[in-house]
Amino acid sequence: MYPNIENKSTKTVAQGPLGEAENPDWARNLVADTANRMAGSVFEARNTSKCETCSVKHCCPIADEGRQVTDE
Ligand code: SF4
Repeated sequence: MYPNIENKSTKTVAQGPLGEAENPDWARNLVADTANRMAGSVFEARNTSKCETCSVKHCCPIADEGRQVTDE
């Protein structure tokens, strides 16, 4: 369900069970791959359209309001 606060409406999008997907492990593989990438010694920040609404930009090195977590 996707709530639309401005129009006070909701939209429901149907999704089949993962077990019926062409590759039933796609979500598990995506989570594992993301976790492995984030656990490395380097995690590259990339400027994308998502940065505009990012809720953690205050700690992102490429955002104007960001800074290193070791900065005081
Ligand atoms: S601002 Fe947010 S979305 Fe953009 S790179 Fe930084 S952490 Fe990622």
